[in-house]
This record gives sequence, C-alpha cells and structure tokens, in this order.
Amino acid sequence: MEGVAGLPVVDHHCHLSTVGDGVRAAARFHAAGGTHLFLATQNYEGMVPTELESYRRQFETTEHLAREVREATGVTVYVVVAPYPVDLIRATELLGLSVALELHTNALDLAGRWVRDRRSVALGEVGWPHFPVPAELAEAGRTAFHHALTVARDVDCPVIVHSPDLDRTGLSSLGDEGRKVGVPAHRVVKHYARTRLESALEAGVVPSYLARRDLVNEVLRDPGPWFLETDYLDDPARPGAVLDLATIPRRAAAIARRSSTDAERLVTPFVHAVEKVYGLTPELPNR
Ligand SMILES: [Zn+2]
Repeated sequence: MEGVAGLPVVDHHCHLSTVGDGVRAAARFHAAGGTHLFLATQNYEGMVPTELESYRRQFETTEHLAREVREATGVTVYVVVAPYPVDLIRATELLGLSVALELHTNALDLAGRWVRDRRSVALGEVGWPHFPVPAELAEAGRTAFHHALTVARDVDCPVIVHSPDLDRTGLSSLGDEGRKVGVPAHRVVKHYARTRLESALEAGVVPSYLARRDLVNEVLRDPGPWFLETDYLDDPARPGAVLDLATIPRRAAAIARRSSTDAERLVTPFVHAVEKVYGLTPELPNR
C-alpha cells in the first residue's frame, strides 16, 4: 500500500545513519505506507567537523543515503543540510571561538550553495543550542543563526530551526527575526515541537510536531501550515529514538481507520504545508 486515504504520507524530519538501520528504516516507513521523507544531515564521523571539507563529506553522505533510499524503496527523499547548531559549541573547544564561528558560517554558505544547486531543499538544522551555554557562546550562536537567515534569504529557502522549546514570546521573536532579515515567517519552521503551539499561527512560524499519538490528535484540526516528524535518529545506541521511522504512516493509517473526515485533515501536514513552505507538491507514486 502506498499513501493513506489517497494522500502522500510525509515525515518532515528524520536522520539516517551509515552505521544504523539506514535503508532498512526507510523500508519500514515505506511498508507502513510512507511516501516522502525529509532527510536531514547529521554528523556521521563521530567527531565534530573541524574543517569545511568534513562538512562537504557529511552533506555528500546524506545525499548518498537519500539516493540509496530512493533506489531501494521508491520513497521520495528531500535532502536538508546545514552545520548542526551544537557543532559550534563543540568546535569552539577545539579551535577557539573565532575560528569555530568562521567554520560554521562557511558551512552555512556551503549549505546555501547546495540549495542553489538543488541538492538540498532547506537549511537545517540551524538555530541555537537547546541547553544553556556561556554568554559568549550564546552570542556566537545567535550570530550564526542570523547568518543562516541571510543565506536562506539569498537562496530563497526555508530554515528548519533547532532551538529550546519556544513560548509565545519566543515564537513571535523568531518570526520577527526572520522577517527583519527578509525570510518570511512561513519559511521558518520550528522543528521538534513537543506541544501544541497555537501561538505559532499568530507569529506566522510553522511548527513541525513530533508525531506522538496524543499530540497528533490534538493538532489534527488546527489550521496549517504544520508538519509531522519523528526526528528519527537512527542511532544504534538509541534504537527507535526519538520515534521510529514507521510512526507517521502508522498514525495516518490508524486515523484513516477511525474516521475519513479526520484522515482528510492530514492534507494539511502532508500536502498543503509542503506546498506552502517549500513550494513543492508531494505527488503520490504512479501505481
Ligand atoms: Zn534532527
């Protein structure tokens, strides 16, 4: 079976590893009815990149994994690349702050070129650490995020934001920050949203909700755009974390069994949000 209720089934944020389940995880997703994955890059080498060449290799690994998944399963895979925001903290320990920040902004520029060359559909994850850091590093993190926004404006793409949980004030200042640089709020996605963010709508920022059962049911009738994601990490040390890759198609199928009206609501995360935020139309594969 492909798709659910005549819709594509989209996981808006996951990672795959070269030493984890990789294509096997994508096959589980496909077997459960999944059709489209947004595959975010990650550090595959077990140490923080200390040179731009490492980021280039990292992005190429993501691209390679995406190709393998497409070939093995027929799932559509959209690649998303950027230097992970926490890398800046780790790299500072090794390189010092100014060199680390320069590397980070260069890696953001590289990610921007990938978008321009259509090898990537967004910058992600970008943002700032989800844990407290010393003031100097916090400021450098904000500088890096501001640079990410300028790159996104220049190449006209969405930013997938990694940050602590944001309240109404945090969401509205996130939307403002984007607008000030020239990135419209509907291109600013708050990744890893763990609670319903009603105030995201007024801020114009787009939540990407973790697909926990209760949260999906809670947001299902909300006006969009919003996404569903597993943030699947494919980490052999943490199997199934954050959620398994088969989660979203399984949730979608359960909703479709329960109510066709509810199933129709899934057009919001699976079609309309993708169109609005990315300007892409997720097509169902030909059967
Ligand atoms: Zn992630």
